[in-house]
Amino acid sequence: MSTCITNCGRPVEDALLCSGCWGEVEQALRSVSWLADELEVTITKQARTGRGIGIATRASETPILFNAEARDRKDELRCTLVGWVRVLWEHYGTGRFDAEDTLEGLASWLLRHPSWCRMHPAADELWDELRDSIRRAVAIVDLAPGRIYLAPCTADLEDGEMCREELYGRENRSTARCRACGTEWDVNARRQWMLARVHHEHANSVQLSGLLAALGVEAAPSTIRTYVQQGRLKVRSRDQRGKPQYRVGDLLEILFPTDHDLTKTAA
Ligand SMILES: [Zn+2]
Ligand SMILES: [Zn+2]
Repeated sequence: MSTCITNCGRPVEDALLCSGCWGEVEQALRSVSWLADELEVTITKQARTGRGIGIATRASETPILFNAEARDRKDELRCTLVGWVRVLWEHYGTGRFDAEDTLEGLASWLLRHPSWCRMHPAADELWDELRDSIRRAVAIVDLAPGRIYLAPCTADLEDGEMCREELYGRENRSTARCRACGTEWDVNARRQWMLARVHHEHANSVQLSGLLAALGVEAAPSTIRTYVQQGRLKVRSRDQRGKPQYRVGDLLEILFPTDHDLTKTAA
């Protein structure tokens, strides 16, 4: 019996690339539709900070800020996808060529031809290059400013498992899509859900400010201390060093007086 072309050690039948290694390529390719959207936002985002930000100006126009590095990674990903679609089509294709010329279209074409991918004499290079260029594009999206952490996805998957992929949203966008399973989530509802989960936590003013910032709520430590001085926010406990700690829910009730029960105000 022969083994997989990537030297992963697993046996193969009727293919050069084993089902485990193909599974890695498949998973990467499935994230391309999510990635295509994210790259577009990252490239055109009015970024305030970060490396690789270029400024293109045309006379008498507002400067367009764009992320040059993200654009390069997108071009690189496109080249890799186009390259492999072309190689496979030249090797196996007959009839009418039906790949749509977008990142998503190219990725889904490759997903429709698993046996071509797994049987091609250079299947190890396909495995390596596709995963690598997708990973590089994901990395640049992950570095982009304006991302909001939204906790693990938790969508129910077809196999009965729960999706554990970390979910991220974007500033100024009302929905967030999971890169692994594609589920769309309402950002507001998710934030409410996350806030409800930390309602009973105790933290000092600096920690509290950071925690809420991560959940999309602005409350500077100085603001929190002002509420304390005004007697509106009570000390609930003290940490090991004797620093006063406050309850997250108490602060939220001051900040959002109408939302007494955050669990009931989703959306
Ligand atoms: Zn393998
Ligand atoms: Zn998911």
